Parts: sequence; structure tokens; C-alpha cells
Amino acid sequence: MARLVLKFGGTSVADLDRIRNVARHVKREVDAGHQVAVVVSAMAGRTNELIRLCREAAPMHDAREYDTIVSSGEQVTSGLLAIVLQSMGIDARSWQGWQIAIKTNAAHGSARIQAVECEVLRQRFAAGQVAVVAGFQGVGPNNRVTTLGRGGSDTSAVALAAAIDADRCDIYTDVDGVYTTDPRIVPKAKRLDRVSFEEMLELASLGAKVLQVRSVELAMVRGVPIFVRSSFEDPDADQTRPGNLPPGTLICDEEEIVEKQNVTGIAASKDEAQISLRNVPDKPGVAAGVFVPLADSNINVDMIVQTISADGSTADITFTVPAADYDRALEVLRADREGIGFQSIEGAQDVVKISIVGVGMRSHAGVAAQAFRVLADKGINIRAITTSEIKISVLIDSAYTELAVRSLHSAYGLDEN
Ligand code: ASP
Ligand code: MG
Repeated sequence: MARLVLKFGGTSVADLDRIRNVARHVKREVDAGHQVAVVVSAMAGRTNELIRLCREAAPMHDAREYDTIVSSGEQVTSGLLAIVLQSMGIDARSWQGWQIAIKTNAAHGSARIQAVECEVLRQRFAAGQVAVVAGFQGVGPNNRVTTLGRGGSDTSAVALAAAIDADRCDIYTDVDGVYTTDPRIVPKAKRLDRVSFEEMLELASLGAKVLQVRSVELAMVRGVPIFVRSSFEDPDADQTRPGNLPPGTLICDEEEIVEKQNVTGIAASKDEAQISLRNVPDKPGVAAGVFVPLADSNINVDMIVQTISADGSTADITFTVPAADYDRALEVLRADREGIGFQSIEGAQDVVKISIVGVGMRSHAGVAAQAFRVLADKGINIRAITTSEIKISVLIDSAYTELAVRSLHSAYGLDEN
């Protein structure tokens, strides 16, 4: 017998037919003798609709009331799934965040979970009842409903799994796992059987939409294995498979991955914009002069390249900022032109950051060199480079996105054969 948290995303509960399908997945686990807590998202599109209503009511609105409104989507699905489960003869009860209680800080709209009180859930398990928990929501210090940010149900599920010492957190979604890259760019992309927490954290931060970044962080810190699988699979197919393992991706500790590849995945992120400052005086304090005002304006700088002029008197500084902050960053820098002392400022928004991720890089030389060679062979110019222990990122013209991702994907042997 295992203790499981099953989480179902918006497309998996988009209508009553799909909720019935979800209930069959739940029933299968209950029938297998497991203790089950379910976490649900709002029905697909519902959260967007609720956000639109808030904006229409008043473009600038009270974040506490926003949370009251947008959290309601999950309340509906938790109740509906409980009813459907009951109609199938399964003892089930819905729970709102405050009823559990999932305690958060007061950051309405993107609250962080601080504690999950799980006494109630433990009692329900003891009584053989399935708890159907509304994801995305918690309760703040003032007893007001809070929400955890878009995609926050993933984090609700992992936090719950950690709190009740679940054996696994199963995330049911509309794809059957995590792929080596976006299959829309590379049709030969492969589903990964296993991926480490660290790699998944990089991939999620780079825009892989499968999981909210925070949920992966939390799973890593608390050591909760996550299994990503599709809810559209026939709920009863599991029994017929050897080892009962459905198609999916297990996100787990690196030690549990036997066959380590040098490169696990490739991601392309269009959320970056490039800024270059030309002819900045090359003296101590210049980098601080550029990056402190940006940090003060809450603008995250990612890649940074500095090149020195031939006579060593000036430097060019190139860096990237989130595309959404591009105009603001230019404004902040222009306002301080005298102070920083640059001659001109240039920017580009038609850029993409291609990242190559893999824990195998730690122990293998030449992974970066291979990427540079592949891109050079295709005539793709690299504008900036950053590396970490398990990631290499290059900034290139966005027109070459597909060519670059495809070429790298096959160069690292990731194509499905
Ligand atoms: N319903 C929320 C959203 O759409 C939370 C979630 O689905 O995870 O962002
Ligand atoms: Mg989601």
C-alpha cells in the first residue's frame, strides 16, 4: 500500500466527461489499496475568465478580492469530483485550502506556502476516505484566501505530498511526460523516462510548461518524487502493463537515474531581450553602475558579456533582460547615461536563448565545445553565452531557433530512432 497525491490539471477536468475519466483514475488507485489525496485545478479556461472579470470590474483592484474570485474555480472542481466519486461508490470529500489548512504568507496573487496542517487528511486516510483538495489556494495570516500564482496547483500538490509523507506525487496533465525538447519544434523529441530534480528545475525555469517552477523547487527540497503522466490515457490500461508502469516521466533524485546522458534536454526561450552598451569607460565600478539600478528596478539580468576595446580604455557590455522588462530597462539606463558613461545603447528583441541541460555535463568535458561547433557549422552567430554546472545557454537570432534546436538535438544523440 502506498500513499499518493494525484493532481489533475485544467484540461483534465475541462468538463464533466473528463471529470468522470479522472474519477476512474482515482478509483483505480483506491481499488489497488492506496491512500489517496487528490488535488484539482480549475476547469480549463476558468481561471482566465475569472481574471478577466476582475480586470473588467476595475483595472486596478484589491489583490485580496482578486484571490477571493480566482480561487473559486478550484472550489467548483473539487466539489464536482467529490460528487462523481461518491456516485461511483467511493467515499470522498472536498477540501478548500483554508479547511486543510494550507497556510501561506500574505503575498496575494503569488503567495508562498508556509505550512500544511495535515491532521485532517491523516484522519481521513485512517477512515478510508479520499480527500479532494482545491489546488492553487491557501489561507493567509489574516485568514483571507490567498492564491499561489498561475500554475500553482502543482505546488499545492507537492506541498501536500510532502506534508503527508506521500510516496509519490502523480501529476496528470495533457501530455504524457517531459520531453527532450518541444515536440512541436522537433517531432523526433523523446519522452524522458526519468529526469533529475535539478534538470527539471532548469527546464521548467526555461519555459517547459509541464510544471510550475516552484513545485519542482519544493519537490527537490522535500525529496518528493513526481510522476508526470497523461490523464487521457485509458484509466484501466495500467493493470495490463508489465510492472504496471504507464507512460510518463519520473522526476527524482539524480542518484536514482542509472543511465546518465551528457545532455538530457534542450530548451528555447523567447522571453529574453538583448541590450548592449557601447564604449563604457573600463574602470572599477562600471558593472555596478549598470546593474545596480536595474536590480533596484526589479529587473533580472541573465546573460552578461563584457568585451574590452583594443586599447583597453573602454568596454562594451551586452546582457539580457526578460522581454517584458525590455522597455523599462532601456529607460532606466538612458536616465543614467551620464553616470554610467556609455556612448550608445543598442537593443534587440528578435533573439532566443537556447539552453542545453544535463547533469552529465559535470563529469564530461566538451559538451559546450560541441554546441559551438554545431552552431558554427550551421552559420549561426552566438551573441552571448552563459554556463552553469549543468547548463549551457547561448543567445542567437530568433530566426534560427528551429534550426539550432534541431541540430543540437540530433548532435547530442537525442533524436528518437
Ligand atoms: N487554475 C490556476 C491557473 O490556471 C492554477 C492551476 O491550474 O494550477 O493558473
Ligand atoms: Mg498547470
